[in-house]
Amino acid sequence: MKAISLLGSTGSIGTQTLDIAAQYPDQFQIVGLAAGSNVELLAQQVRQFHPKIVAICEKEKLAELKAAIADLTPQPILLSGDEGIVEVARYSEADVVVTGIVGCAGLLPTIAAIQAGKDIALANKETLIAGGPVVLPLLQQHGVKLLPADSEHSAIFQCLQGVPQGGLRRILLTASGGAFRDLPVEKLAHVTVADALKHPNWSMGRKITIDSATLMNKGLEVIEAHYLFGMDYDHIDIVIHPQSIIHSLIELQDTSVLAQLGWADMRLPLLYALSYPDRIATDWKPLDLVKAGDLTFREPDHQKYPCMKLAYAAGRAGGCMPAVLNAANEQAVALFLDEAIRFLDIPRLIEQVCDRYHPQNLSNPALEDIIAADQWARQEALLASQQVPVAVR
Ligand code: MG
Repeated sequence: MKAISLLGSTGSIGTQTLDIAAQYPDQFQIVGLAAGSNVELLAQQVRQFHPKIVAICEKEKLAELKAAIADLTPQPILLSGDEGIVEVARYSEADVVVTGIVGCAGLLPTIAAIQAGKDIALANKETLIAGGPVVLPLLQQHGVKLLPADSEHSAIFQCLQGVPQGGLRRILLTASGGAFRDLPVEKLAHVTVADALKHPNWSMGRKITIDSATLMNKGLEVIEAHYLFGMDYDHIDIVIHPQSIIHSLIELQDTSVLAQLGWADMRLPLLYALSYPDRIATDWKPLDLVKAGDLTFREPDHQKYPCMKLAYAAGRAGGCMPAVLNAANEQAVALFLDEAIRFLDIPRLIEQVCDRYHPQNLSNPALEDIIAADQWARQEALLASQQVPVAVR
């Protein structure tokens, strides 16, 4: 039985984690829940899973949450704000923390969980992308396992089981190609938020769905793979695989290639992150290769999707540059979702911010350096957005 603290319980990763916990009550117990602002759903989750500690990020909503579960006995510990989320992350009874918080907001609670010795089921990319230089030494220091819950990194991690030290030569990340995979490049200038939110294969949150449409999601995953598996950027490649059946591959020193396959269902990587190193028997629909049909592959189009190259460049620069890239992207995507900039402004904005960044502590940044770089990049992206033409609504 594993005791789980779940951060971001009302989001896409959060609700799928709870589906798993509900389906396997003898394997997983939810001891902590933390959410942003969705009181109604959080209260419902508290009723169903009886966690011992609960936090809501938006402080003004605490009273509403209290009222919504006032009749429950025993009452969970109820907290709010960033401090509340951190307390759920380091809660003494949790064995593993699922980090389903989107964006850089997930970094500090994840660090708190690592410092408290919790294993991490990592569904928050930014932890490693922005925080990699600080997080990696902490993992060593506290003897903590970082178990990837992203489908691609889970695939690589699964393939790596049993591969000896030094056996890995190359990582091949598969990408669905996102919402605009088959749209000619000249049409990209006029796409709307609603268009960008239509992902062909995966059901995910809004931010990550936009990241899939720009392919920044894949660029960020390249950086994440670099930190997770210790591969240099020359040995991490992207291949477009529209069917999303192969979730990623590894090439070994002898040219043998291993892949992990499955339907596009986030529950599988989540389950493995939670059950590792064990395998739990499920009644989920098994992969049927004949029904899956043709599996095809093509080269990524860097002309159409400049975000991938921006991510490789930021990753190679190292230090705080990935944090700058990530923060500029978060800000740009938020502006796009607000219809304040156009789709093609997203990479333009990110490039401008990265170009303007003058790195300090490049090789060995401290957490404060990373946070400062993140704040700076958000501000800079906002400024840059005021210099691009406003979207046609
Ligand atoms: Mg992914």
